[in-house]
Amino acid sequence: MSNDAHRVHRRTKIVATVGPGSDSEEMIGRLIAAGVDVFRLNFSHGSSEHHQRIAHTIRKQARHQDRYVGVLADLQGPKIRVASFAHGQVDLTAGDAFRLSLSIDSESGDASGVGIEYQDLPKSVAVDDILLLDDGKMRLRVDSATATDIDCTVLVGGKLSSRKGVNKLGGGIAAPALTEKDKADIRAMEVIKPDFVAVSFVASVADIEEARALLTDAGITAAIIAKIERAEVVADSNLLDSIIDACEGVMVARGDLGIEVGDAELIGIQKDLISRTRKRDRMVITATQMMESMISNSMPTRAEVFDVANAVLDGTDAVMLSAETAVGSYPVEVVRAMANAAVGAESHPIARKSRYRQDREFRSPQETIALSAMYGANHFPGVRGIATHTEIGSTPTLMSRLSSGLPIFALSRNAETLQRLALCRGVIPLYFDITAFDPQDIESRTMEFLSDAGFITKGDHILMTMGTLIGKAGATNSIKLLSIG
Ligand code: PGA
Ligand code: MN
Repeated sequence: MSNDAHRVHRRTKIVATVGPGSDSEEMIGRLIAAGVDVFRLNFSHGSSEHHQRIAHTIRKQARHQDRYVGVLADLQGPKIRVASFAHGQVDLTAGDAFRLSLSIDSESGDASGVGIEYQDLPKSVAVDDILLLDDGKMRLRVDSATATDIDCTVLVGGKLSSRKGVNKLGGGIAAPALTEKDKADIRAMEVIKPDFVAVSFVASVADIEEARALLTDAGITAAIIAKIERAEVVADSNLLDSIIDACEGVMVARGDLGIEVGDAELIGIQKDLISRTRKRDRMVITATQMMESMISNSMPTRAEVFDVANAVLDGTDAVMLSAETAVGSYPVEVVRAMANAAVGAESHPIARKSRYRQDREFRSPQETIALSAMYGANHFPGVRGIATHTEIGSTPTLMSRLSSGLPIFALSRNAETLQRLALCRGVIPLYFDITAFDPQDIESRTMEFLSDAGFITKGDHILMTMGTLIGKAGATNSIKLLSIG
């Protein structure tokens, strides 16, 4: 339990993508020590067996370091791509004609056009639509579209290589969220036992429900993260709210979303998404190109430090690294840099201030206890933290929807609960088996445990919550102010 990341009580969690630059056992161990809370396995690359092996290594290293670390399986989803070029790539020049076509062979693209695999793409575009290639680096204008061919004019040129992504400005390429590959990947996940499964390009509540049904069938109880990366979803706040309610957390997937809506628009969308998600008691990850320059540099730019800090001030639970840890040259350094930026931002009063939901009613006894504990803890200077005995993690999750500078010690005997709480801002997941003690000793045992772990010393107070029915989920109904003497 003694690592640097915990000593400074960083509240914002770090999600790191595993890839060829970071998939050795040694590196995974170093990344955990540097502060990674959740690892993302990117199912856009690598075989099922490969992901199984990495998941096993993560569990082993986490156990070794006495840490609860989450595993997030990120499904590829219907990312639309051009097929391949006969010579690997072509040069597109502004003014050129370029065709995307179902009838061009998948291996024989050239400077006049390239194949596409997604059968419905021609149907999803109209004259004058703008198509964005390779994360928005190149732009095409649609001049005409038939059942099989999209004829375009190049507006912004560049080098287009095989299998680069295609997005439509403003969104609206309506491929279903779960592909056949995603479904097969879910079925093969029982060995991995991920704590989180991320569904890419979510368009509706039905997408989440379908994923949940498939997970249940496969015997997996993972939390579902809805990746918000379609322009048409963020444009409809009712749809957005219903998607948030249907899952356990969302990802502000700035990569694809930013291409479709533009970065200027994305600034406000990030703030809205984070606050909307927290208000609805769900978790939120802010993702993509947070410290991009550290793929090849050992230091971040100031702009990158500020981007991480800004997401922290917006209230995100976690910040995510993609290529920086998957293929970058400085995986350990980038985790440290991100942790430092987060801690810096957390020291600002804005990150600790809360409005305590003054404008609304609480919906359950549990929420009442959770938020009362936060109110008390934030207002009585002697309190060093909140200790919450939890079965499935719902009380600490509710607590962490309020801003605070105090740690929330989530005490559970359930490893899956603790791994899931690894994503939750301000929550320190700790193994504590409440059923091992006499009910009348639980208060003293809890204080002893936190003191032995170095979190509190003589004179400190803790606000503790638990349920009278020990070991029962959703039964939290009491709050106590304890002190250590
Ligand atoms: P991806 O998702 O990295 O799987 O594309 C995140 C994003 O689009 O930002
Ligand atoms: Mn994406």
